[in-house]
Amino acid sequence: MNNLRILVTNDDGIMAPGLRSLVTELSQIADVVVAAPDRERSATGHAITMFQPLRAKDMEVPGAQAAYAISGTPADCVKLAIDALFPGQIDLIVSGINRGANLGTDVLYSGTVSAALEGVMLGLPAIAFSLAEYMDPVFEPIASLAKDLVQALWQKPWPPDTLLNVNVPQLEVAALRGVKVTTLGHLRYNNPILTRQDPWGGTYYWLAGQAPEDNNVEPTDVWAVNNGYVSLTPIHFDLTDYRLLDTIAGWDLQLPNNRGR
Ligand code: MN
Repeated sequence: MNNLRILVTNDDGIMAPGLRSLVTELSQIADVVVAAPDRERSATGHAITMFQPLRAKDMEVPGAQAAYAISGTPADCVKLAIDALFPGQIDLIVSGINRGANLGTDVLYSGTVSAALEGVMLGLPAIAFSLAEYMDPVFEPIASLAKDLVQALWQKPWPPDTLLNVNVPQLEVAALRGVKVTTLGHLRYNNPILTRQDPWGGTYYWLAGQAPEDNNVEPTDVWAVNNGYVSLTPIHFDLTDYRLLDTIAGWDLQLPNNRGR
């Protein structure tokens, strides 16, 4: 049987320890190639580069059979990997391990999740891994857990366009309470904008803010991570609100020039 072939990417950049740990671990169970941004690209969401060329620089990443540092966004990296750098050579995309959680509505800002979503849009299954610790992350135990999870998940009957968003709290692995299948929660930040003065008296703004007191309940991803579970949320790019289709169809909207027809 051929080896599983995994593309590893991220949004923290190709030098990030989270990616390096993930590649080291996954290379024990799969043929791993890497296409990741040449610098940190966190919070770039699903942006792509349209009005500049992209460069892919050959890199050495321990455990990877090939690796490229790309002068673009996470979504650019996945597009380039699948259509140009490793065409027909990838079975699964694994994005991460991100420094910091990607939970709830934050997934819309996340380059980590967007890279995985780009893979799904191009027809490949994908998993995004994030460690829910920003200030003092320790990636190795989580990378080992990610390897075990990838191995277990790959045996399952995945629908073709599956994206799994995995968030892991930073606990001793033995202290994790298990895997919860979750929904996306809602993170609304308190004091989201700092307003300050620069040395010359001009005003500047800094996007910041803390997540509010936890108002996310089971079965959300936020709740799961706050309660010591590994959170696993299936995500799809179809943002249609199916709950509203019938209601809005019932509004019987008409264009002015269709009046009376
Ligand atoms: Mn990041």
